[in-house]
Amino acid sequence: MKKLHAISVAHHKNTAYSPARRMEVPKTVLIPMSMNIGAPAEPVVKVMEKVKVGQLIANAGGYVSAPIHSSVSGTVKKIGTMVNSMGRYVKTVTIETDGLQEPWEGLTPPDVHDFASFIEAVKACGAVGLGGASFPTAVKLNIKSLDLCDAIIINAAECEPYNTSDTSTMFERTDEMWEGILLLKKWMEAKRIIIGIEDINKKCIEIFQNKVKESGVDGIEVKVLPAKYPQGAEKVLIYNTIGRMVPEGKLPIDVGAIVMNCTTCATIAHFVKTGMPLVEKVVTVDGSAVKEPGNIIVPIGTQLKDLYEACGGFKAEPKKVLYGGPMMGIAVPDLEQPVLKSTNATLAFAEAEARLPEPTACIHCGKCIDACPFDLMPCELEKATEKKDVDRLRKLKVNLCMECGCCAFTCPAKRQLVQSHKLGKALVAADNARLKAQAEKDAAREKEKAEKEAAAKAEAEKKEEKEVVSK
Ligand code: SF4
Ligand code: SF4
Repeated sequence: MKKLHAISVAHHKNTAYSPARRMEVPKTVLIPMSMNIGAPAEPVVKVMEKVKVGQLIANAGGYVSAPIHSSVSGTVKKIGTMVNSMGRYVKTVTIETDGLQEPWEGLTPPDVHDFASFIEAVKACGAVGLGGASFPTAVKLNIKSLDLCDAIIINAAECEPYNTSDTSTMFERTDEMWEGILLLKKWMEAKRIIIGIEDINKKCIEIFQNKVKESGVDGIEVKVLPAKYPQGAEKVLIYNTIGRMVPEGKLPIDVGAIVMNCTTCATIAHFVKTGMPLVEKVVTVDGSAVKEPGNIIVPIGTQLKDLYEACGGFKAEPKKVLYGGPMMGIAVPDLEQPVLKSTNATLAFAEAEARLPEPTACIHCGKCIDACPFDLMPCELEKATEKKDVDRLRKLKVNLCMECGCCAFTCPAKRQLVQSHKLGKALVAADNARLKAQAEKDAAREKEKAEKEAAAKAEAEKKEEKEVVSK
């Protein structure tokens, strides 16, 4: 089997196996209504309404969407908007907490008795891909026929440097994660479940190898993967566990696979057991500017300023703060930004690590090509983007780029390749939209022309009939 390119990065897993600690409930939480891929959720609460932990505060806004529940007990103070880290306006619900963290009285474990009720439970739980993808889990699992999927891959390959929140799940929520795996096995009728863990995570490998052995359940295995980046990227993981390549424009299910993040598994099991939906996250807080790094249990909607405060504040001025890890993370504009469902880490770096190196001219060394897991040509993509050559970007398969950053990390000229690829993809998307609009316009024009011709023909026939009658 061909090996996909991967790179060695410093792991910086400083917080691995340090017990996750629960932070004090902040005074307010700011819960965005857009925390998943797809439609935003629609608030169902009103200003001044009292809410409790686990209470529904927003309904899913469409099929590809997820409901949102209150992460605290308190009073709804505001329904407003904020600009998120992607620069988009999103609706928010601000809740002033009462510090009591009273669970909502209506919480009951769902009745799961078949595939359909399992999907309903996953939906009601508000689960989204917690590895960072944030795709609504119920939509991912709701496949047309269970025969379409013969392998479920549990993504426990936490390849981003610094991040250890999935490790915390494996280590501290072992039973819940295992129960989640068994739920998938039962209701998705999965023939094969593969738990992919990186080889540096020895304790977790041992824990789950023992679980598999002790349970005696057939069809579940642990796959030990080399700790190379980007081992946890969906398509890379599928290839490295079951040897199938997801083609461009296709989904894992098209090659018979579903990938589930390990914390998502634990979240679903927790809901099925207790009725408590997704309301909190374990977030890795680390980086050179942070006084007391750690894994912190955080109510969703906690603002980063409160989270960093719970970690002793900063020991140096933070010059760059990220959602996620240093390879694929997104810089946040300010510390008012809240913890989202998919936030698994936030890193704050001081000047030395935050400073961007000055890019120099490409020296055509080809190292970026060697580093790309999908054999793309990052240097050529960059040139095509600079020229706004959309046809060439398509030919070079820019849309296969998963923005993993391997090319930029390897580039000796420090070219800002990922930013360039993002722009390249946006150029193709804009051109696709233009072509679609043009095709719709042409089709409408053709339709109008055909209708006019049909009307003229009918008119001519009528006239002819009249002439025949009058003769
Ligand atoms: S960012 Fe894109 S082009 Fe660069 S290595 Fe990753 S997939 Fe390849
Ligand atoms: S690694 Fe950098 S310098 Fe080398 S070919 Fe790629 S873009 Fe150019």
